[in-house]
Amino acid sequence: MTVRVRLGCIADDFTGATDLASQLVSAGMAVVQTIGVPADALAADCDAVVVSLKTRTIDPREAVRQSLDALEWLQAQGADRFYFKYCSTFDSTDRGNIGPVSDALLEALGEDFTIAAPALPANRRTVYNGYLFANDVLLNESGMQDHPLTPMRDAFLPRVLQPQTSRRVGLISHDATGRGGETVATRVAELRREGFGIAICDTLDLADLRAIAEGTRDLKLVTGGSGLGLTLPATFPGFAPRSNADALDRIEGRALILAGSCSRATLAQIEAARSHVPSMAVEVEALFTDFEAHVGALAAFASERLDGGPVLLYASMPAERLREVQSRFGVEASGEIVERALATLARRLVADHGVRRIVVAGGETSGAVVGALGVTGLRIGPTIDPGVPWTQATGTREPLALALKSGNFGGPDFLTRAFEVLP
Ligand code: ADP
Repeated sequence: MTVRVRLGCIADDFTGATDLASQLVSAGMAVVQTIGVPADALAADCDAVVVSLKTRTIDPREAVRQSLDALEWLQAQGADRFYFKYCSTFDSTDRGNIGPVSDALLEALGEDFTIAAPALPANRRTVYNGYLFANDVLLNESGMQDHPLTPMRDAFLPRVLQPQTSRRVGLISHDATGRGGETVATRVAELRREGFGIAICDTLDLADLRAIAEGTRDLKLVTGGSGLGLTLPATFPGFAPRSNADALDRIEGRALILAGSCSRATLAQIEAARSHVPSMAVEVEALFTDFEAHVGALAAFASERLDGGPVLLYASMPAERLREVQSRFGVEASGEIVERALATLARRLVADHGVRRIVVAGGETSGAVVGALGVTGLRIGPTIDPGVPWTQATGTREPLALALKSGNFGGPDFLTRAFEVLP
């Protein structure tokens, strides 16, 4: 039986796409995440597809182009409602890309109105009177004011969004979202009549997210963070949550952990894992001296031990040591050679040594590994820790289970516990 794709999502970065996909799965939808816009039609049966792009900080024209390509592909797969996903901290600048992409999607769909609902109350991202709070303080006091690419120096979202869009930006305040779906729908109709094209949504909790989803069920396009992903599925007529939405095929094979993140969370996870699993460090100097020899040594170390359980190969190091390495070899050159080494190891250990289950720590590192393995999509499976599900790869020669973790995600025992969650 094939089920028509009902919801088409476009995410402006990879880990954000996974986050949204996990929320939709929790709400009972079967979900596939693609990496970029696929060349071919969707092969899998699912309710929602999340196309992951990398458009958060690129030139707005390019972000619009890629987002419209994604929209066209999603329409071709049967989707007729759409979700533009961005960060719950509304990461953008006066140039975009939240405004320009929302404008372009509305225009392509022939629609005149959408909402902007960035809140993710479970992670303490809330909106009140149009002001965005992160971890209970105003966005511009949350640390986001110092972000290297998208410094957020104003928490009042109507003012943040207005310069990015040609449409009038309005507000659906908590007077409406706190009263339920019908009040939200009435407010939407009012704003539309008054000539507004997009409205920020006040959101304090899950009940507000439910009201927003219900009150906007007639809109073809919604935009926001991943929070709305929990409440949107229930608004599709006749939708019954699947009890097995997160079911993956059973994938037998050897297990590998690759770590390229130097975040505090990942360093602690490596420390915890090292007393349970064999581990070897990737040495940057050795890679620069003789890449093949060092990667060969790492592959040999792993292949000799894979029969006994997961093996950990890691390049991660504390900030102080990392700065030394970076000043010696260059930030970009050292990062690139580490990514290439971990990606080569993934490919080789899968092709020659029966590895079929891989945990990867690090966003960029995950991108490199996924690229080397030829992954085109991921079916989203059971959650290990918030925002990090097991997934099943599509497009690869061998069946593969992948858990791709953004550096700071996951509890201290993540690396070893991950394999217990897999069927
Ligand atoms: P995170 O999700 O924590 O940001 P990423 O994988 O996105 O992790 O980024 C970490 C970057 O650091 C990668 O480009 C990786 O290659 C680089 N890196 C990891 N270890 C080292 C190292 N020992 N020396 C230099 N660069 C490193």
